[in-house]
Amino acid sequence: MSKLLIFSAPSGSGKTTLVRELMSRFPRLEFSVSATSRAPRGQEQNGRDYHFVTPDEFRRLVAEDAFVEWEEVYEGTCYGTLRSEIEAIHRRENTCVFDIDVAGGVRLKEIFGDRARSFFVQAPSAEELRRRLTGRGTDSPESIEKRLAKAASETARAEEFDHIVINDEVSRAADEISRIVAPFISRRVMLYFGSFNPVHRGHIAIAEHAIDRGLADMVVLVVSPQNPYKESDELAPEVERFEMAERAAAASRHPWLIQASAVELTLPRPSYTIDTLRFLQEQLPDTEFSILVGGDNAASMSGWREADKILGRYPIFVYPREGDDPSKFPAGATVLDDAPPLDVSSTEVRKLLESGREHYRAGDFGAAANDFARARELSPQSVEAAGYLEMIDEIFSFRNTDLMNP
Ligand code: ADP
Ligand code: 5GP
Repeated sequence: MSKLLIFSAPSGSGKTTLVRELMSRFPRLEFSVSATSRAPRGQEQNGRDYHFVTPDEFRRLVAEDAFVEWEEVYEGTCYGTLRSEIEAIHRRENTCVFDIDVAGGVRLKEIFGDRARSFFVQAPSAEELRRRLTGRGTDSPESIEKRLAKAASETARAEEFDHIVINDEVSRAADEISRIVAPFISRRVMLYFGSFNPVHRGHIAIAEHAIDRGLADMVVLVVSPQNPYKESDELAPEVERFEMAERAAAASRHPWLIQASAVELTLPRPSYTIDTLRFLQEQLPDTEFSILVGGDNAASMSGWREADKILGRYPIFVYPREGDDPSKFPAGATVLDDAPPLDVSSTEVRKLLESGREHYRAGDFGAAANDFARARELSPQSVEAAGYLEMIDEIFSFRNTDLMNP
């Protein structure tokens, strides 16, 4: 299914800058070049930044129904999204990117629904917006006043967008957007299930290897709450395991193509892989999921709940570990013989942590979450502990509005 990304903002917020940065990060994004009746400014090129047309030509295009939407964004100056642009980009199986005014962004989202993700880009303050417009040095003082006058009413519509992004610093804002864009546009997503207790560089090296070899567009570390086949005593609190995985992924060589998912922490328990797969597939019907497992887990896969359904539908990738018996791996699994060797294990890391030679820092609410999870372990009947953990689930769903992190 062809997808679209919509970026709107009051002029001067830095939307063009962010869109350029994103396009350099994701090769399958293609800019939808609008038509405009204004003259080129600065370094702008016809056909690259806009199709510059005369007011008469613009009216003719409107009459010919060449636009999906068009607006008189500023008095006497029209801009329009060409149907032909969207069609050509989708024919090349790329994702369309729109840099469009606020009213146009809302219209496109209405037209394309779930196929589109819309972003409202905001400067940190009104003063900063003025500074950027002046600093850009491309607009006359009157034009700057016109743009600023419009900014307040545009900002009032921010809530009509899927995401609001504060453009404080370009690379930070681009990271935030990238983490939303990657799962949305990825066709092949590799799910790396595990307790990540804790995550370590071996996990990340395997995930990086999968991306480098083009085995998937994206790798998701799915942090499991509790393996129904394992004793849970040794598990660190799940919120912390998730946060550690999230940070490790963000510090990887592919910070937006490798991500952690809290999906299993919010699904009913015990969590079985087949249930998670069903849930994700329902959320993302067009995504082709595959599964990445270590040799030890691969050998026991035939015993997983509804193993036939998992193995029948999802490609399995195995990274071999010392002492594995490859004859026990599921038939048809791809063994990653050239994967970097796992020279570290979670067990070793846990020993280091216990001996006090290593430590990790909990996140903002990690310490509190830690206590609630411990309280529930000590007293599974505790209504209070359950209540607090529910609240943490809510924080998760609020923080991670992504489909991978419902
Ligand atoms: P828009 O496309 O929203 O009109 P631009 O991308 O042209 O905005 O950005 C407006 C000006 O602000 C440009 O000079 C740009 O270099 C600058 N700018 C963009 N983002 C930032 C940022 N995060 N911090 C400081 N300046 C920025
Ligand atoms: P600028 O003159 O600064 O390039 O753009 C002015 C405004 O027009 C920006 O907010 C830009 O996003 C918007 N714009 C550009 N193309 C289109 C379009 O095709 N349709 C609509 N509605 N707005 C557009």
